[in-house]
Amino acid sequence: MPEGHGKDINRIARRCAEEGLRMTGQRRIIAQVLAEAHDHPDVELVYRRANAHDKRISLSTVYRTVKLFEAKGILEKHDFGRGRGQYESAERAHHDHLIDVTTGRVIEFQNDEIEKLQEAIARELGFELVGHKLELHGVPRGRKKVSS
Ligand SMILES: [Zn+2]
Repeated sequence: MPEGHGKDINRIARRCAEEGLRMTGQRRIIAQVLAEAHDHPDVELVYRRANAHDKRISLSTVYRTVKLFEAKGILEKHDFGRGRGQYESAERAHHDHLIDVTTGRVIEFQNDEIEKLQEAIARELGFELVGHKLELHGVPRGRKKVSS
């Protein structure tokens, strides 16, 4: 099982300190919201959550802060095909994602056989694997995909 996003709520704040980022109260709240998120939120959702803590936090502040955290390698940005970036802490243990295309819900998984297979494929092609991104897109069994 991948490690939970919110296990250490100070993880992102700690990474910010390591990167020498000045931590304003607003940045701290945004870092906390991101560290507590279990659902790969986009900027808009981070904004709504941060703004619930502090009404003075603006969408543009959240946007800039998320971009900064991403640039510093504190956050990992995903494109799950929804036309906007979705974020999670870059420090989390490796895992892959399954996206429910009917709702956009993201399910995390880790599979040793897939990991080994990917390494074997790279090796057969003459490479040593240094990373990969695997994304599965699905509909819940028994439900047809709603065309949009
Ligand atoms: Zn994830």
